[in-house]
Amino acid sequence: MTKLTDLTITQTIKGLKEKEFTATEVTKDYISQIEKYEDKLNAFVTTTPEIALTQAKKADENIANGKMGLLEGIPLAFKDLYCTKDIKTTACSNILNNFVPKYESTVTQNLFNQGAVMLGKLQLDEFAMGASGTTSFFGNTISPWKANNSDKDLVPGGSSSGSATAVSARMVAAATGTDTGGSIRQPSAFCGVTGIKPTYGRCSRWGIVAYASSLDQAGPIAKDVSDTALMLQAMAGFDEKDSTSANIKVPNFPKALTGDIKGLKIGIPKEYRPDGLNKEICDVWDKGIEMLKEKGAEIIDISLPHTKYALASYYIIAPAEASANLARYDGVKYGLRVDGKDLDDMYMKTRAQGFGEEVRRRVMIGTYVLSAGYYDAYYLKAQKVRALIKKDFEEAYKKVDIVLTPATPTPAFEIGDKSMEDPINMWLNDIFTVTVNLAGLPGLSLPVGMSSTGLPLGLQLIGRPFDEATILNAGYALEQSVKFDNKPTLLRG
Ligand code: GLN
Repeated sequence: MTKLTDLTITQTIKGLKEKEFTATEVTKDYISQIEKYEDKLNAFVTTTPEIALTQAKKADENIANGKMGLLEGIPLAFKDLYCTKDIKTTACSNILNNFVPKYESTVTQNLFNQGAVMLGKLQLDEFAMGASGTTSFFGNTISPWKANNSDKDLVPGGSSSGSATAVSARMVAAATGTDTGGSIRQPSAFCGVTGIKPTYGRCSRWGIVAYASSLDQAGPIAKDVSDTALMLQAMAGFDEKDSTSANIKVPNFPKALTGDIKGLKIGIPKEYRPDGLNKEICDVWDKGIEMLKEKGAEIIDISLPHTKYALASYYIIAPAEASANLARYDGVKYGLRVDGKDLDDMYMKTRAQGFGEEVRRRVMIGTYVLSAGYYDAYYLKAQKVRALIKKDFEEAYKKVDIVLTPATPTPAFEIGDKSMEDPINMWLNDIFTVTVNLAGLPGLSLPVGMSSTGLPLGLQLIGRPFDEATILNAGYALEQSVKFDNKPTLLRG
């Protein structure tokens, strides 16, 4: 028999409507799944089973009265970067370890307004800086996947490490993530699940702990494309509390999933196939191209000439903004305080103990590139490159409707992989994803194949600004051809 935790959100809603089971039963099954696997995976910072059961009970009443929100009775969890009223929100940093917000982020509020049930708060790389799930103050998150004939623990990707892990291990029906340079798409690809980084401005950033404000965007991670569309529908929308929120109508994303992509023009950028690119990644990309062609799409070679400068400019702009955003954690207003002999000493001790190594590295780089004398050479130049990258896409979208690329340059790597101790190697994980944030575009990642070692490989569909509907529909069409079995090794008995 199919377990309730194996159902997609779409299937769960149907079952709830047809009274096959109740929201309380669904929620209890997810809670059992968390109890069963959390010790192994460390996906959660905080679990909130009592809140979940209270909300599920309310959802059951609503369902009985025929009042169903888009996500009525659906158990979710949130990346621990989303402020949740009266529930600890840590950004997985020691500096916010005792922070309990007095307000609710707009996106989590939107989800609650649609009937969602909260199972807890999920792990991430500290302050969303990372691609591995290994920089959290609360320890590593472990992928539910293992390579064939190997017992080694793998990273789930990051920074939305807990979100991708929890969705993959069916501990939640779906989760929220955030994506500054790939943090929704890369862990989705590593864990064989689906995630979308919406257009910058599509979802409100209000109440989400800031990393790099001109790049950060909220988005969902879910079991398949339909669930991703439904989650985005509930999360998105204009918010006057966020000055960068876009006052643009949110289309009906689930309705856009017709699977019809006849005549859709898909661009294949040659710069995303650098010499030495992993052969299996090339193969899965080719497979995706073939499948989309069979569905009637037109494949067009394109060039995005400034791609090669994207990573360098991202790793100037993101740390610059981070160093400014993280200046507020000073031991005075909230969070950790480590007393010192005077005010300066208190600042230094608090920040030295409060931030982990990767965060300190970013603050140092950011402060350096913004400092007098280096501002023009680094920060300003990176901003100019950013404009050129955006222009590359604008040119491309004169010829094509969407762009198809790999999501990551490799499958998931092992925890403790020595080569990843070099920060540059870790940053190279983001090579295919940062361009999308720099240009403010929407990007969808979905599993399309498996490596020879039995690990998921994902592709990325990049759309025009505010055209999430087209990439979701193309992803939906692709998903139907791929028929990916997303059950991770851990759950395969
Ligand atoms: N890995 C990238 C970084 O460390 C992206 C992180 C993110 O998208 N939050 O900055």
